[in-house]
Amino acid sequence: MNIFTKAVHAGDRRKGRSAQIPSTTPIYLSSTYLADDAEQLDRLLGDEEPGFSYARYNNPTNAALEDLITSLEGGAGTLACSSGMMALQVALMAGLTDRRRHVLAANIMYGATMKMLHSIFEPFGVETTWIDICNLDAVRLALDEHKPGCLLMETICNPLMRVGPLDEIAKLCRERNVCLIVDSTFATPLLVRPLELGANIVVHSATKYLAGHGDVLGGLVTADADNIDVVRALARTSGPQLGPFESYLTMRGIKTFPLRMERQCQNACRVAAWLAQHPKVEKVYYAADPQHPDVAAIQRLFASNLRGAILSFAVKDAQKSDILALMDRLKLIVKGTSLGDVHTLVLYPLIASHRDLAPRQRQRMGIGDNLLRLSVGIESADDIIADLDQALS
Ligand SMILES: *Cc1c(COP(=O)(O)O)cnc(C)c1O
Repeated sequence: MNIFTKAVHAGDRRKGRSAQIPSTTPIYLSSTYLADDAEQLDRLLGDEEPGFSYARYNNPTNAALEDLITSLEGGAGTLACSSGMMALQVALMAGLTDRRRHVLAANIMYGATMKMLHSIFEPFGVETTWIDICNLDAVRLALDEHKPGCLLMETICNPLMRVGPLDEIAKLCRERNVCLIVDSTFATPLLVRPLELGANIVVHSATKYLAGHGDVLGGLVTADADNIDVVRALARTSGPQLGPFESYLTMRGIKTFPLRMERQCQNACRVAAWLAQHPKVEKVYYAADPQHPDVAAIQRLFASNLRGAILSFAVKDAQKSDILALMDRLKLIVKGTSLGDVHTLVLYPLIASHRDLAPRQRQRMGIGDNLLRLSVGIESADDIIADLDQALS
């Protein structure tokens, strides 16, 4: 055989080679998968037999991650996507398929999510009505007035850590056949499992706690039996899938995610308590605060020791320049536009997550120019507090 032919064929695709099963799912980079014969190929391509044929339809590394997430979240299946935003887009498109093109959306959410509804969905004729999801009566009224196809909310709202009564909202949505989509990035399946509470689709930015090490961009859509087929069909046609390398890293990250998250929640509790008594801190926003405005929902939805690992705090009498200087004084805490990593991260919503909003809109949302957000990592809480202490003084 010619060397050109051998270079392409030798080594690969030998039957009987894979008698041993790898203990950890490897990274499958192949874009195409062979069948035993043409008849099986016909069934695989027609989706009549489970298996692999083409990477846009499925990939063994992604399939392993997807099974893992489905087992963590519940639901009927998961799609691994190239980013959290892509996962949200797929979830919204699936939720609006065969439903009224109207979204009821929480009026405090991740900045890019609000922008996506404005700048991508609205031009395609999808109207959004913004509501306060912490006010159950307002949610009920809006559902009956606007008759939306979907309701979109986050389990814990960024950056003021408001928590809507997810269980009660799910009940209202079920009664009206409204597809409830929950971005549960901040809560993770360790804290809250929205599908078990009646949500239809759960979305995660895997970039955050699940992958956890600041080295992956990825998203996940987990859907119930009524919605998973639409999610899969959308993916087969448009190809939003996560790459297998990122799937592998995400799966590797998830093996330690519950351990990390537990520690991060513990640390966040200590940091929040320390900040609350600091003379330069005006207010701390954290879900373990007994004075929290959503305390009833929080107590129903969260275990008492797992209230999340993100908190925000307002610095007394601070302008933008003071906040920037404070950030520059931090030595250990990383200034980064993300959250959920093993290291503690600080973010200034004014210049980062909520930068694209008009000042008036930020004000309406209660996001002051003196507000900082901390994503607490797995370091020693004493070291995190010491760094904040020297930066605040
Ligand atoms: C980061 C984030 C997203 C977007 O995820 P990407 O992976 O950055 O695309 C969506 N929702 C929330 C709550 C997030 O924190």
